[in-house]
Amino acid sequence: MMKTKILNQNEVAKAAEIIRGGGLVVMPTETVYGLGADAFNPEAIANIFKAKGRPMDNPLIVHIGKIEDLKRVVSEIPETALKLASAFWPGPLTMVLPKAEEIPVQVSAGLSTVAVRYPAHPLAETLILLSGTQIAAPSANLSGSPSPTKLEHVIADMDGRVDAILDGGECEVGLESTVISLVGDKPRLLRPGGVTVEEMEKVIGEIEIDPAVTDKMKEGQTAASPGMKYKHYAPKAKVVIVKGTDEQYVHYVNSKKAKGVGAICYDEDAPKLHVPFFSLGPKADSTAQARNLFSVLRSVDDAGITLAYARCPKIDGVGLAVYNRLIRAAGFEVMALA
Ligand code: AMP
Ligand code: MG
Repeated sequence: MMKTKILNQNEVAKAAEIIRGGGLVVMPTETVYGLGADAFNPEAIANIFKAKGRPMDNPLIVHIGKIEDLKRVVSEIPETALKLASAFWPGPLTMVLPKAEEIPVQVSAGLSTVAVRYPAHPLAETLILLSGTQIAAPSANLSGSPSPTKLEHVIADMDGRVDAILDGGECEVGLESTVISLVGDKPRLLRPGGVTVEEMEKVIGEIEIDPAVTDKMKEGQTAASPGMKYKHYAPKAKVVIVKGTDEQYVHYVNSKKAKGVGAICYDEDAPKLHVPFFSLGPKADSTAQARNLFSVLRSVDDAGITLAYARCPKIDGVGLAVYNRLIRAAGFEVMALA
């Protein structure tokens, strides 16, 4: 029996009423499902952290329903932010900017900056506008597990922990938004996502890539984005990334055949594998791989796999986002065959 009410697309007004009343609503976005509450209500924000089991020092993203509302959330809007907003909003891009005083410190986890995004999903947009406020929302998973991209994932993690779930079907992008900080001397990529570095550089020029995007943080290093220091996106199974040619990958994985061993592969590998496999999509299609990754990680666990050998995604375009999540799911463990 479900404990939490599922609302359909005709019931957005009910969801907005819950937000206005200080409740928690899971909302669909084009990236992943978000766990939303009124960004200006500190008690509601505290309940987000409780529902997820999220560490209090990991800040939330504030979602707006129109570009003009950016000024309600931040205290300063640099030219670069306006350029990025007009090029990529609504869309899977989050900007870190100086925080407006009215945003409670719980949202920014004590930082003087706030992360803001205008999501490109009609239900999210309608919910935000109808609620008459801005909605703070992290991904709607239990802290540490893969972000939910389908209703069934949300139910598995959040049933009984939130007031309502708004059903929006499957999320189109499938990975969390790109996060870019605009508060330093140079724009800095904190988390890769559906809007790529290459696309943004065409609009605002050179972007620095935070080292934590691709590499493990060193002991004692402070995270530019607090979320990056946590073990993230991880299934229960151990994941190892295998770097090598198509043939080397298939040969290696088949040589490891045993109970509980599986493969996180590309469509082209599937017919050649002798272990249970979970395909991310075609080798050349990073967008499909992004959409499928979190669902694949959950399926690996559901199938009782305890050790999964994964393909190494390419690291340009959307591939960088797939790599960034998978390398964390693998605890940075890479097996280099080539
Ligand atoms: P989630 O929506 O759960 O994927 O988490 C939001 C991500 O944005 C986390 O990785 C946060 O650490 C990051 N984030 C949120 N606010 C800020 C901020 N003010 N500065 C840097 N990173 C932030
Ligand atoms: Mg998250």
